[in-house]
Amino acid sequence: MPDSRRPRRSLVAGNWKMNDPGAAGYVADLAGRLGNRSRNAQEADVWVCPPFTALADAVSAAGNSGIEIAAQNMHAEHSGAFTGEVSAPMLTALGVSGVILGHSERRELLGETDDALAAKLPAALASGLVPILCVGETEAEREDGNTERKLRHQLEADLKRVSGRQLPEVVVAYEPIWAIGTGKTATAQQTQDAISFVRSLLAARDAAAATQVRILYGGSVNADNAAELLALPDIDGALVGGASLDPGQFAQIVAAAGPGR
Ligand code: PEP
Repeated sequence: MPDSRRPRRSLVAGNWKMNDPGAAGYVADLAGRLGNRSRNAQEADVWVCPPFTALADAVSAAGNSGIEIAAQNMHAEHSGAFTGEVSAPMLTALGVSGVILGHSERRELLGETDDALAAKLPAALASGLVPILCVGETEAEREDGNTERKLRHQLEADLKRVSGRQLPEVVVAYEPIWAIGTGKTATAQQTQDAISFVRSLLAARDAAAATQVRILYGGSVNADNAAELLALPDIDGALVGGASLDPGQFAQIVAAAGPGR
């Protein structure tokens, strides 16, 4: 039974996308800026999400620094004839602890489907990976008043094979597509409304579990706007793209996140 009193610990995840600023040097630099403290001694959880090719170097550089390393995608099957794919057990064997699933760039540019995500989420959880499920609307969907419809559809379809018992382990990132990599951020009201709507959808499935799910905001977060966005009452952290490539800026965003709810 989930403990509804458990605080939600902040999480700041840096998505490098298909960029590699040099995993070993970057992680050592970031660890130094965060004080080289263990995960428990840090105020927030900090994830670095490099491309597959840099995962091993990042895990080894992270050592006991408290920084966790996550992948940007995985396949739902353990092994088999899936050329070019990487499975959850392969990631955990490397020391990877989480995975971003359903990023809008994968959905919009690389054909990631809700059906594939419905299989990937339980597979990640079964292997011990913490998934960040990305959801969010396009600019046209927002303008047409369809933001809630899109969020409802994605959450229902993608989480349909995740039980209430497993739900607290899932992290959801609300990422309005029009704010990703554009320099535009959602307003405080838009972010607050979307995040509380996401939590209400999760609560309709399992009220106790929903209080424990961490919900992040993503979309052009940087060192200048992080403090304002991360102060919103329902937000549990950030998924950061471009600004995470600079360890100095990323460390400032982590500092803005605080300990959690
Ligand atoms: C992302 O990649 O999830 C993201 C939010 O990118 P950016 O911060 O660059 O908008």
